[in-house]
Amino acid sequence: MRKHIVAGNWKMNNDLPQTELLITELLKQNKTSDAEVMIAPTFTNLWQAFESLRQESIEVIAQNMHFAENGAYTGEISASMLKSIGIETVILGHSERRAYFNETDESLAKKVDAALANDMRIIFCFGEELADRKSGNHEGIVESQIKNALFHLEADAFKNIVLAYEPVWAIGTGETASPEQAQDMHAFIRKTLADKYGNDVAESVSILYGGSVKPNNAKEIFGKPDVDGGLIGGAALKAEDFYAIVNAF
Ligand code: PEP
Repeated sequence: MRKHIVAGNWKMNNDLPQTELLITELLKQNKTSDAEVMIAPTFTNLWQAFESLRQESIEVIAQNMHFAENGAYTGEISASMLKSIGIETVILGHSERRAYFNETDESLAKKVDAALANDMRIIFCFGEELADRKSGNHEGIVESQIKNALFHLEADAFKNIVLAYEPVWAIGTGETASPEQAQDMHAFIRKTLADKYGNDVAESVSILYGGSVKPNNAKEIFGKPDVDGGLIGGAALKAEDFYAIVNAF
């Protein structure tokens, strides 16, 4: 059975005291679902978060990394640096990274390779913009994002890859893809994987939905057969809301 995963992307929110406070609040919540829970604080707070959650069943993950091992890349962080503080999973390809930091399918393919070379698990994000959806090209865009960044990999690599479909028009906008739109796209993504790698791989990869998932819509979205969890932005910053989403499974 595929893993259910709910991951909170904190983005550039929460300084150190706020991080500690939110973690304290998260630890007070009651988990009733089988979903794996992850949080992605900012780089400066990863170590503290990791230390606080060392004995807990919340995994601390990174929001990004560079593709080089080390070197003259001022301001960047490598996979081995993350690994050295215990971080095993990294989000790659978030639409904000693509839009504001010029990340491309090509640079993301290099990041994917670097993460896998360091035995890291990846949550790989992609999704169409509103204009693509309106023109009916949403599947074409998603297919090319996946193919360009991931289809050079061997089938075995997908043991360490989680996909996150995040329509750009639904991120932070309060607008959500309908459960049917999410299911249709997730089924299309799974078929794209099956065509290249076969059914066994396609059926084993968890595909998360991201885009204004909230306590009041999570159950319906997670109820769809090809939706295996969520990547959560805004609602991950409130412990009660985040766990209401975690417990929607
Ligand atoms: C995200 O940033 O990945 C995201 C899904 O944000 P939000 O839940 O706020 O739309």
